[in-house]
Amino acid sequence: MHDDGRHDDPRVTGSPGDPVSRETDYPNWAPGGASFRPPGWDAAAPPSDAEAVGPEHPATRAAPDVPRAGNPAGGRVIPIRRNASASARFELPVPQQPTPDSVPDATPEPVPVTDTTAAPGASAAEAAYVSRETPTREEDDPPLAMEAMRAVQILNPSGEVTMPRPERTRVMCVANQKGGVGKTTTTVNLAVALALHGNRVLVVDLDPQGNASTGLNVPHHTGVPDVYDCLINSVPLEEVAQGVEGIPNLWCVPATIDLAGAEIELVSVVARESRLARAIAAYPGHFDYVFIDCPPSLGLLTVNALVAAQEVLIPIQCEYYALEGLNQLINNINLVRQHLNPKLDVSTILLTMYDRRTRLADAVEQDVRNHFGDKVLQAVIPRNVRVSEAPSYGQSVMTYDPGSRGATSYFEAAQEIAERGVKEPVGRNA
Ligand code: ADP
Ligand code: MG
Repeated sequence: MHDDGRHDDPRVTGSPGDPVSRETDYPNWAPGGASFRPPGWDAAAPPSDAEAVGPEHPATRAAPDVPRAGNPAGGRVIPIRRNASASARFELPVPQQPTPDSVPDATPEPVPVTDTTAAPGASAAEAAYVSRETPTREEDDPPLAMEAMRAVQILNPSGEVTMPRPERTRVMCVANQKGGVGKTTTTVNLAVALALHGNRVLVVDLDPQGNASTGLNVPHHTGVPDVYDCLINSVPLEEVAQGVEGIPNLWCVPATIDLAGAEIELVSVVARESRLARAIAAYPGHFDYVFIDCPPSLGLLTVNALVAAQEVLIPIQCEYYALEGLNQLINNINLVRQHLNPKLDVSTILLTMYDRRTRLADAVEQDVRNHFGDKVLQAVIPRNVRVSEAPSYGQSVMTYDPGSRGATSYFEAAQEIAERGVKEPVGRNA
């Protein structure tokens, strides 16, 4: 099992007692491969909702966004018809309401219901019928239609430039020395969102775990030219960057396990803190955005990222310990600004894994907004199961499930970042 909670073997990701997770076999999964796919799964075509939650799909093993029946809230279990062929069932708590089906000895008498929406003169039976059925239709249909509309907006099939491009390359370092706060997820999804909307984007995977490379489905096994070669052997970026399949305008410099040694090897290299800055500076104007996905530490790799960037984007998880250690990060950023990179600015804070059911998330949001003011993006990323499933298919949530709340939120965050970059360009006068 990885630090971030993912297992190497997809067969053990299920909850104990889940018969699907124990018995389903994935012959297409190869250890060490960039992703696994269940039989018949085509990465280019995200599953329909019915497939995604069906009994043969890994998605069944993750908790849905809605509270399950059987939780303290309780409630009756109803199937939601999201697709005509859907055999899968989501479970939603709904208020207990007697219906003719559920009450065996219900009398045929009209139920005395006062319904203000019923037409004047309608009988009590008609009024009762309207009041029971209408909410079901209202709850089902508009969200699906909206989901489809959002999906089209997010995928932007026309390829038009719908997010404003900055005048100069914005190099953004995605940093937080805490692990599992959403650095990689944020890097991958913002990069894909901006690239889908007409920006030229480069992702530099600076974490030896190579999660950003996995998330973008870029090969990063031993022997693949990677960011280590740029840092230690001064290999130009263009020789190591790979185009991301299916996303025009997006490239990734992968990280292989070799990078794990770079932290120590860099110590004796000339200009060890500015190796990455030099590599990126060799391509002025080539990209609109360069996102650097940092490792969860404040070592030489992170220092290289901070020296190469003009902006720091700090993802903050909406959890209790989220703010601990942030002072240390800010101190390091200040040190780098004083001694190595005067242009550096903490321009963007993004709240991630927000769980609207908890008061704690709300409290953390208030704390962060009070402390960082308008550096905090209005868009907040919710805890969303689609976001965490996407990397196992070598995809971002933007392409895996573009109608999901996770995709919508990252799309909104990307839009805000793009608009801010045009209104108040960072480091332009430096
Ligand atoms: P970091 O790069 O900071 O270590 P990751 O981006 O790898 O953090 O995220 C840690 C874990 O949390 C991953 O398994 C990821 O899929 C999951 N995750 C990240 N953001 C979300 C989210 N909004 N909802 C649900 N899971 C998330
Ligand atoms: Mg990471």
